[in-house]
Amino acid sequence: MSADRPNEDFVPVKHKPDSDVDQFRQDGEAAVAWVADYLERVRELPVQARVKPGEIRGTLPPSPPDRGEPFAAVLTDLDELLLPGITHWNHPRFFGYFANSGSEPGILAELLIAALNVNAMVWTTSPAATELEELALDWLRQLIGLPEGLHGHIEDTASTATIVALAAARDLRPGGAVLTSEQANFSVAKAARLVGLECRSLPVDSEFRLRPDALAAEIEGAAAVVATVGTTSTTSVDPVPEIADLCEQSGAWLHVDAAYAGSAAVCEEFRWALAGADRADSIVVNPHKWLFTPFDCSALWTRRPDALFRAFSADPEYIPERASGVIDLKDYGPALGRRFRALKLWAVLRAYGREGLQDLIREHVRLARLFASWVEADPDWEVVAPYPFSVVCFRWQGEDEANEALLRRVNETGEAFLSHTRLNGRYVLRLAVGNLRTTEADVARAWELLREAAAA
Ligand code: PLP
Repeated sequence: MSADRPNEDFVPVKHKPDSDVDQFRQDGEAAVAWVADYLERVRELPVQARVKPGEIRGTLPPSPPDRGEPFAAVLTDLDELLLPGITHWNHPRFFGYFANSGSEPGILAELLIAALNVNAMVWTTSPAATELEELALDWLRQLIGLPEGLHGHIEDTASTATIVALAAARDLRPGGAVLTSEQANFSVAKAARLVGLECRSLPVDSEFRLRPDALAAEIEGAAAVVATVGTTSTTSVDPVPEIADLCEQSGAWLHVDAAYAGSAAVCEEFRWALAGADRADSIVVNPHKWLFTPFDCSALWTRRPDALFRAFSADPEYIPERASGVIDLKDYGPALGRRFRALKLWAVLRAYGREGLQDLIREHVRLARLFASWVEADPDWEVVAPYPFSVVCFRWQGEDEANEALLRRVNETGEAFLSHTRLNGRYVLRLAVGNLRTTEADVARAWELLREAAAA
């Protein structure tokens, strides 16, 4: 159909008004009741989905309905058709990757975010969304002991935050390399590739930390260095103060990836991990990893907002003109449209407060240390890396294949889920504590399952 000759046969369909608030109230109560029941019973569900590829899709109609269906049908299908294909990240015995939490205040805030449905692309399009984003990130900055005066904004993920940092660095030193450790998250190499910079992985010491001597040998002319505070495999912490010295001497941008471990700095005893981060050009911390905020929410701070602005600002005609004395968040990252993520972070920070967050993080570290003590006490098992936070890397005495089979067996029980990594060429198991409902009994059960699987 061409634009100047509309289809004459077109008859508009009369839709049911979607502003049926009474129906919404009823559906809403059912949805919140579903969530409450889910949080109560998730412990009883198999942590890892046990379906085959295509199995879930095969149970669903291949085409959309012609007529609208009641929301209750979605809840029914969620229970009956989708849940078997869900791996329950919000399960207290989810110990894989970096375990995380959809906390109750965060879940409710997500509902409010969708209800408001604002787009915080510029201050004018929803002033409260921009100002709450600034405020929530300033609260978080204070909670983890970063210096005043940083520009903060929220990205979806640390991957995007690192793209932002490297784009700013590239504009300052086009053609320079990005240097990081071989233990850095692969999002660093991906971000470098996206902004057109070469990424070089540098060796680590015996505790999986970037070696400053290796960095010193390569840093001349580099555009950026990405130091990690809490690496993905072992949660090792790169020596950021030495790295900051080298970056200052060479003029390279320093980006600190504290996606996981940055949250630990809410507790004074873990502030050491962010030593030197005050000298970074940018730093990322993911509240969606270890700060009880539902996925997604990644906090990025920079000392050099001007560089981000140069990389990302644009003023198309149809966007409202910048109001004076405010910032437009669209100018500091790749996305124009921006969700109101600040609301859920703010809700979580208010609901737990500093002390509540500290209690949870301390408990997770205590549980990880307890688990490590059980592993260390058993001659058939070994801890294979330092465990400064809530993740323990360990293995059974057998070969790689035996450890792999053992992990598979544990995960197949559905009672717990752990993931793995490879260190010094060896297959290694990882237990990551990070769900707010995890108890000592949950960690003990995981240890029991591991030993049973080894015995089998
Ligand atoms: N940095 C580190 C240290 C990580 O462990 C991860 C993911 O686990 C990332 C960055 C990427 O995080 P995101 O999934 O938010 O992009």
